Amino acid sequence: MSDYLDSLRSHYDHVGTSESVNIPEPRYCQHCNADLLGDPIPVELREEYYGGWTHYKREIGYYSMEHDRTMYYLCPDCGETI
Ligand SMILES: [Zn+2]
Repeated sequence: MSDYLDSLRSHYDHVGTSESVNIPEPRYCQHCNADLLGDPIPVELREEYYGGWTHYKREIGYYSMEHDRTMYYLCPDCGETI
């Protein structure tokens, strides 16, 4: 059992150190402190489509057709504006 947990832990340590995280600020919700780090973006798409960011973010963008841009972002956990 503890061997299993140790192997899990070392797995996450490995993931945590082997891949750098490069996402737009802020990384954490300032209201509930949720980690907004999402899934990794496939390496081949990062430079071409995502400006070099390494991970998606979990925030929810509110896009305005009228202004043709994202107006604000919401935290997926607490629903507050980030
Ligand atoms: Zn939040």
